[in-house]
Amino acid sequence: VRFVTNLGSIQAPLPEALTTFLAACAAAIGADHVSVSAVDLADWSLCTFPWSGHPLAVLSPGTAEEAVACLHLAGLHGCPLHPVSRGRSWGLGSRRPPRDAVILDLSRLNRIIDIDATSGTVRVEPGVTFSQLQDELTAREIPFHVPSFGGPPSASVLANALDRGEGSGAFGDRFGQLWDLDVGLTTGERLRTGYGRFENARLAPVHGRPVGPLIEGLFSQASFGCVLSGCLGLAPTAQHGCYIAFEIGLSDKLPAFVEAFTGLIRDRVVDYHDAFFWDGAKQIASAGIAADLTQPPPPRAYEEWLATISISANHAMILDCKKAIVIQTLLPFCNSFTIDEDGEPGSRNSGLRGFSDGGNVTSCYWAKPALPDGPLNPDRDRCGFLWLCPVIPLDGVALARMAQLTQAAARQFDIFIMAGAEAATERACHGYVSFAWDRDVPGADAKAMAAHAMLMEAFTREGFHPYRPTLPATAAAAPSQGDWAAVVRRLRHALDPAGVLATGRVADL
Ligand SMILES: Cc1cc2nc3c(=O)[nH]c(=O)nc-3n(C[C@H](O)[C@H](O)[C@H](O)COP(=O)(O)OP(=O)(O)OC[C@H]3O[C@@H](n4cnc5c(N)ncnc54)[C@H](O)[C@@H]3O)c2cc1C
Repeated sequence: VRFVTNLGSIQAPLPEALTTFLAACAAAIGADHVSVSAVDLADWSLCTFPWSGHPLAVLSPGTAEEAVACLHLAGLHGCPLHPVSRGRSWGLGSRRPPRDAVILDLSRLNRIIDIDATSGTVRVEPGVTFSQLQDELTAREIPFHVPSFGGPPSASVLANALDRGEGSGAFGDRFGQLWDLDVGLTTGERLRTGYGRFENARLAPVHGRPVGPLIEGLFSQASFGCVLSGCLGLAPTAQHGCYIAFEIGLSDKLPAFVEAFTGLIRDRVVDYHDAFFWDGAKQIASAGIAADLTQPPPPRAYEEWLATISISANHAMILDCKKAIVIQTLLPFCNSFTIDEDGEPGSRNSGLRGFSDGGNVTSCYWAKPALPDGPLNPDRDRCGFLWLCPVIPLDGVALARMAQLTQAAARQFDIFIMAGAEAATERACHGYVSFAWDRDVPGADAKAMAAHAMLMEAFTREGFHPYRPTLPATAAAAPSQGDWAAVVRRLRHALDPAGVLATGRVADL
């Protein structure tokens, strides 16, 4: 029995085809790990914005072999499948599939397979979370860490790297530190992309680029295959560190500040993933939610920019030198600065050494009447939250333009939008623009989605294309020119001939 297809795109499966597929999956992974319960599906459908793709069922394999069996069956039955590692993609799409699909829940694959404490690498399965890995590295006193980030510590380290997420510091480009993927395909095949494919695989944990074509990219932000484990390079943990915050002023001050700052990056005084720029809205939201403010901030407060730079070194003298150079270079271009010394030198309980506290997730609650008492879950708490992730050239005029477009959209739609940017290379920033609203307020969803569409269009016109996918941004992406789509469609077909894996995940395909 096959699912209905139309010109290569999967349509809603016939109920009996789904039943047959799920029965085969139940035989492969156990009926207890196949759910079509209305309660489960309602929970898996939760999202921080309205979206039309629905989970049809949830498969929760317990081993990599069981996951490959599900993938193979999906290929044989032509059933659309959407892999989810931990599903903490709040503001990107949560656990919703781009189009109706059965969910492949990989959270039970949660083994830290290997830690190489000498060279600082780790092999993890998709269910391994940031907090799990940080706890393990701390308990074993391993002098390496996974760079900390602003996302939830309950997210998957591997999925964040596959999604080209980032943390702070020189090792913050997670996909750049990921190699030797173990990939399952809907053909039932399984392959290793790195040295793990050779009989003597001693290089697998220490070198990621064997001779020949590199194919890891086909599994990043694409899901043409399902990644069952991967090797990740860890950051060496420095003993000393501090944060320096520079109050820049309004966005007309950005060009001079950014120019001076770029010199620090080129001179390797600061690592690019160590520098963030925040607009006033993001600063205000990081201090609490709107309902807690005694009076609304003056409009000008939303337009004030702050730069935070973190500096680490293993030697106190090097830290002091870096601090002095950074302050001396940037002081002429800011209003004031503050230094937040790392209170507990050497403690693993620091963002400088891989500890992600998840505190930033409160920004999803900006428009809610109150913060919940228990753990934060923006899906369940009906937060409206959505990202736009444009690349911005690392120059102050471009950053000021991003700010101008963002604030114009916020004013036009009367919605709260926060903007920030992180230096991602010597030449470009990754922009973080996030929309926060209350999904319980009638009409708020529609307003937010319209503002998001308008701002996305404005960024596209400006040439600020995204570096990270969200469901709405992928659906509305500018069409690519030339033969890119035709060629990538053929590559996808080679890996997933039935075209069932993560349908709709890549624009143009
Ligand atoms: C307030 C806030 C701040 C944030 N700050 C940051 C930040 O600083 N840096 C950052 O990087 N992110 C940040 N995020 C984004 C988010 O937290 C991460 O992207 C999170 O890691 C995603 O959840 P997950 O790891 O559980 O991945 P999942 O939701 O499980 O998966 C992410 C995507 O990858 C696909 N996928 C998952 N597993 C596989 C697999 N094994 N094989 C193939 N495809 C797969 C999924 O289909 C999905 O499309 C932030 C989010 C919030 C709400």
